[in-house]
Amino acid sequence: MASHGGERVTTTVEAPPTTHSVHIRGAAKSFGDKRVLTDFDLDIAPGEFVALLGASGSGKSTLLKILCELETVDDGTIHVPAACSVVFQEPRLIPSMPVWKNVVLGRPKALASRAAANDALAEVGLADHADDWPRTLSGGEAQRVALARALVREPKLLLLDEPFAALDALTRIRMHSLVAQLCARHNPSVLLVTHDIDEAILLADRVAVLKAGHKSLDRPVDIPRPRSRGGAAFEDLRRTL
Ligand code: ADP
Ligand code: MG
Repeated sequence: MASHGGERVTTTVEAPPTTHSVHIRGAAKSFGDKRVLTDFDLDIAPGEFVALLGASGSGKSTLLKILCELETVDDGTIHVPAACSVVFQEPRLIPSMPVWKNVVLGRPKALASRAAANDALAEVGLADHADDWPRTLSGGEAQRVALARALVREPKLLLLDEPFAALDALTRIRMHSLVAQLCARHNPSVLLVTHDIDEAILLADRVAVLKAGHKSLDRPVDIPRPRSRGGAAFEDLRRTL
């Protein structure tokens, strides 16, 4: 329960009652006087890859934090699957643990084996780095470890908060194809938060725009892969941003 505008409102973060993996209705969030989300709606189907675009400061990270319960919502209904993983812009590895332990940290003991970590690291092309210390990794390698750590949990929902923003252009392109390949294999629902329209078009099945607290556009990316970056077909998106 939360107090909002003098009224008591009920908010829930629980398994969805619908066929959707993520179901958000009327989400509202303010920090003091600053309204970040107002009446925000979003659905994500199982296995669907949705990109959420929006200018810096538009509330993208706040929404993502609400979905993984790092932040509370003031009003509205939020349904998300119980199994949820997040990758942030920074890899957030624990420096005092070798790479493999970072991958399985926090898992139940039976699932936190070296073998499980090795398999996950092999999937991101880092089989040879299991015993390395995080500080010896490049930015791209560290982010691949973060991806392995997210996927080893077999999440039903994968939340990606500008995971490529801090990488150089070539590494970013490599990460795009890695993420596309891994998502096709593991098939989680994905919410990718980004301010890069080309990245959104390249990776997502659907693109939504967060503007002035609510969804100002939500449309399928209805051209087959491999996709060219940009093009006149996306003028509506560019205008909205
Ligand atoms: P984005 O990820 O789209 O750049 P954020 O969700 O990080 O935007 O932030 C949206 C707005 O909310 C910004 O104005 C930011 O300063 C503010 N904000 C975010 N988190 C907090 C917080 N914990 N306390 C106060 N203001 C916050
Ligand atoms: Mg952000």
